[in-house]
Amino acid sequence: MDRGERRKTVLIQPDMRVAGVWEIDLDELSHRGIAGIIVDIDNTIAPWGARDISAPAAEWLAQARSRGLGVCLLTNNYHSRANWFARALGLPVVCGWVKPWRWGYRRAMRVLGTRPDSTVMVGDQLFTDILGAKRLGIYSILVSPLSDRELPHTRLKRRFERFLLGRRDDS
Ligand SMILES: [Mg+2]
Repeated sequence: MDRGERRKTVLIQPDMRVAGVWEIDLDELSHRGIAGIIVDIDNTIAPWGARDISAPAAEWLAQARSRGLGVCLLTNNYHSRANWFARALGLPVVCGWVKPWRWGYRRAMRVLGTRPDSTVMVGDQLFTDILGAKRLGIYSILVSPLSDRELPHTRLKRRFERFLLGRRDDS
């Protein structure tokens, strides 16, 4: 691997990796001065393509809110699907082609009333969720996807993600 390649690899690493959102310690986030959590929907809190919310994820979201943390959903999904989750969870949502672009995260932070240093991003994809967060200096947490059923282009990205993440594990 040449120097340029290594630099890109380092840039796209998440700050933390967990099996699911429920493993994220909310007390620790508060201690670090985090006031707002931006959360991806598909494969992070819901199985891909399903209008169904993972029970442990819903419980974690409820706990976050009861501790006074703000939560905003951020999804590249279309409006009707995104709004279904927003209504079901009683959470604000920023949707459309918003990741990995900075403006999507900025909109979510405006909703939350937070800045990059008081926000975390939680999602299952390196090239959307994590990359966008990195571009703004937002602490990023990568979760393992809830289900294997995904768009073909996402499956292709997964192979590359595994390559990049595997590289770090080896070093
Ligand atoms: Mg996702």
